[in-house]
Parts: sequence; C-alpha cells; structure tokens
Amino acid sequence: MATDWNFLQELVFNFGHQLATNPTQYMMEQAFAHHGLNWRYVQFEFTEDKLADAVQAMRVLGFRGGNCTIPYKVAIISHLDGLGESAALMEAVNCVVLREGQLIGENTDGKGFLQSFRGVAEPAGKRVTLLGAGGAARAIAVELALAGAASLTIVNRDAQRGEALTRLIADRTAARANFVPWDGQYAVDPDTEVLVNATSVGMNDATAEVALAYDSLRADLLVADVIVDPPQTALLRAAAERGCTTLDGLGMVVNQAQIAFGYWTGIEAQPGVMRDALQQVLQGE
Ligand code: NDP
Repeated sequence: MATDWNFLQELVFNFGHQLATNPTQYMMEQAFAHHGLNWRYVQFEFTEDKLADAVQAMRVLGFRGGNCTIPYKVAIISHLDGLGESAALMEAVNCVVLREGQLIGENTDGKGFLQSFRGVAEPAGKRVTLLGAGGAARAIAVELALAGAASLTIVNRDAQRGEALTRLIADRTAARANFVPWDGQYAVDPDTEVLVNATSVGMNDATAEVALAYDSLRADLLVADVIVDPPQTALLRAAAERGCTTLDGLGMVVNQAQIAFGYWTGIEAQPGVMRDALQQVLQGE
C-alpha cells in the first residue's frame, strides 16, 4: 500500500436542530475536498438534556472543533473551557475551536458580516441603524462596535430585547447606542449612514416587507440584509431602486464558514469554493 493513504479522518461537528436543511455541511465538505483535506463535518441532533454528554464525547473522540446553532448557542458556553472576546460579549457561541487541548467558543456570525461589510465600506466612525435585536443583530452590533462604529440605533418591536442590546453596546463598547421601539412604519434617521436588517423578515419570502418608510432610504445609504434565502429581499430591491449601495446575506454566511474553516484547519479556504457550493444548494442544482 502506498504510504500516503490516511484512513483516519480529522473531524468537526455541528450541534443543532433541523440540520438536514443546513447547507453549511455541504459547503465545508466541498472546501475540505478542494483543499485535499481528509476531514469530515458531521452533524448531530439530540435532545437538549444531552448537551453535556455530547460535548464530552467530542473531547473523548478528538474532534478539532465544530459549529453549534439553535438551540445550543448559549447553553454550550458552560461546557467549554473559554471564550473569544466577541463571544464573551455576545454571550453566544456558534463555533468551537480546539486550541492547545482546550475547547474555546467563538462567534463568527458578526465577523462574517463585518468581512462582507469591509468589502464595500469601512466600519470605523459609521452611524448605524440596526433593525432587530435577536441573535444575528446582537452579533452584528458587537462586531460593528468593536470595529469602531460611532453609534448604533437599535430598532426592535420587543422593547426588553432592544433595550438589553442597547445597554450591552453602550456599557461594554466605545460606541454610542440608543433604542427606538418599533411601532408602525419606521423612518430612517437622516443622520444614519448604514441600515442593517437583522430581523427574520424576508426569510423564505421575497415579497415580505420590513415595516419601513421606504421614502426615508436615501441614495447615499448603505443597506445590508442578513437574509440568505432569497438573497435579494424586498428591502434590498427597494434600496437598490433608490440608488443605495446594498449588501446581501450570502457573503455573511459564506464568510462565517470560511472563518471557521481557518480556525480549525489553519488554512485560508480559497474564496469562491464555499460560495459556489451554497449557490448550488440554493438553486437546487
Ligand atoms: P432571532 O429569533 O434571534 O431574532 C429575530 C429578530 O427578528 C428579532 O429582533 C425579532 O423582533 C425580529 N422580527 C421577527 N419578525 C419580525 C417582524 N415581523 N417585524 C419586525 N421584527 C421582526 O433570530 P436570529 O437573529 O437568529 O436570525 C434573524 C435572521 O437572520 C434569520 O432570518 C436568520 O436566518 C438570519 N441569519 C443570517 C445569517 C447569515 O449568515 N446571513 C446568520 C444568522 C442569522 P422581536 O424581538 O421584536 O420579536
């Protein structure tokens, strides 16, 4: 037998629910294959009372890390050995990395967004309005603040969630933050330079509209949306019609996967491989 055969794969995991429709598995394995890595991305669904055992199993079996998604992003923290800076601020983990024998929790949601954002603008000094205060909004708010955004206006229906995120940014980062309760059609403040939809409005529905006064979208605004499917949301189409620069949610999800791939393997995944894989999935090829 030739000596370069290796039948012992390196493993990474994904913990969550409803994983059969999660395209990250395909994206990762396409990238492993592209880079000639004998690695596997294995998904595990289990009941929430089994989380401690599942993490212990990953330790015993030598997994190099993994992802975790809903409902484990917060619950996994108490089973890990440490957290990266932004994961600690967000109190949510979506990526676990084995570093010097320790399982460290990171959060790549906001980092993926920031990487896309940097392709069109510099976040430092920006005045940002963020629609939503859920997990994606929290991750984006923290990363924009850490990257030097001047201010964040958090607009959300649920005041408790909105105020909690506003306090997190105001108290624990250098950015200014204020909360606006979302009641009726929201008109974007003329002082805003960047508008981000981080709500789930638009998910799986190209016609769903956020409650926004579209005539407040100025041509000099940068408008970003986190929605992956479909990438061209009603908001992004309306913004483009008004001459705004737009940024879709595809870049965010692909960048997150690329960042995780780099954390685990130490290799920078070739741009395009994961995006092509995701596009294949979205187009049902
Ligand atoms: P959460 O459930 O944590 O938060 C949902 C947010 O959407 C809340 O702020 C909620 O407001 C708001 N919302 C829901 N419906 C409406 C509505 N009709 N009008 C106004 N606000 C509404 O979800 P996540 O933050 O985890 O995910 C949000 C979206 O981001 C999802 O579509 C998800 O697929 C996408 N996402 C994309 C990623 C990417 O890489 N591109 C990464 C992560 C998420 P309220 O608090 O008032 O209920």
